[in-house]
Amino acid sequence: MPSQGKLYVVGIGPGFLDYMTIKAKEVILGSEYIIGNDLYLEQIKALLDGKKVISGGMGTEVEKAKKAVKLAESHVVSVISGGDANVYGMAGIVLEVAQKKGLNVEIEVVPGVTAATAVGSRLGAPIMGDFVVISLSDLLTPWEVIEKRLKSVASTDFVTIIYNPKSRKRNTNFQKAIKIIREHRSKNVPVGIVKNCMRDGENVIITTLGEVLEYDNIVNMRTTIIIGNSESIIWNNKIITRRGYHRKYTY
Ligand code: SAH
Repeated sequence: MPSQGKLYVVGIGPGFLDYMTIKAKEVILGSEYIIGNDLYLEQIKALLDGKKVISGGMGTEVEKAKKAVKLAESHVVSVISGGDANVYGMAGIVLEVAQKKGLNVEIEVVPGVTAATAVGSRLGAPIMGDFVVISLSDLLTPWEVIEKRLKSVASTDFVTIIYNPKSRKRNTNFQKAIKIIREHRSKNVPVGIVKNCMRDGENVIITTLGEVLEYDNIVNMRTTIIIGNSESIIWNNKIITRRGYHRKYTY
């Protein structure tokens, strides 16, 4: 039986609507149902007039994905994700559920500005080359696996970006991660901390690997941390990771 439905998974960016893509906005405005968690729905409140909204807190992702897949059989549905839906977002679970259920409607994932690049912009130019993104959340990944990955990353010179540094239940993961990274990198390596990036109450801190734990009480689940590499410097309250131009050119 032909179906009228369509399923979008939409990255809505880090916070303020100005940082959402035009496509994401169009898709949300064109959907009958919007499904997402409370924080993200609040972010796009201005776009929700007349929409059927299905909300839910953290930990209800599977339930939301199942509802979305069911509704998409005959409705236009947008599942929203903060930042980008491919980065610790809803794209995976929605596609997994759709695959299991054999959903026969078109699914489109719409990209968004992820925390790494939003935070990178606030800090200046801390990324610039090869980088690694690592989540400290051990809800779905065992801590031993996270620790193993941290150790292998720490001994390389990848700029390292930490998502999910803490939660109410996991208060020491960030400290543990920093201690592992310090075993392999200089204490002078620049570190940027951005809390509530591109949202109300934004807080940007520039420090070093040696001193970052002085800000441990500021770091929470709405914070992303960028640890520079051996080419990173601090200038004018910004972090610059030099890509190598300085070795080839005079300026
Ligand atoms: N899909 C999201 C990430 C979800 S995981 C994205 O692409 O950005 C949640 C983690 O993302 C948070 O714990 C935090 O580390 C980071 N994060 C998301 N939005 C943020 C923001 N506006 N400011 C700072 N960190 C943010």
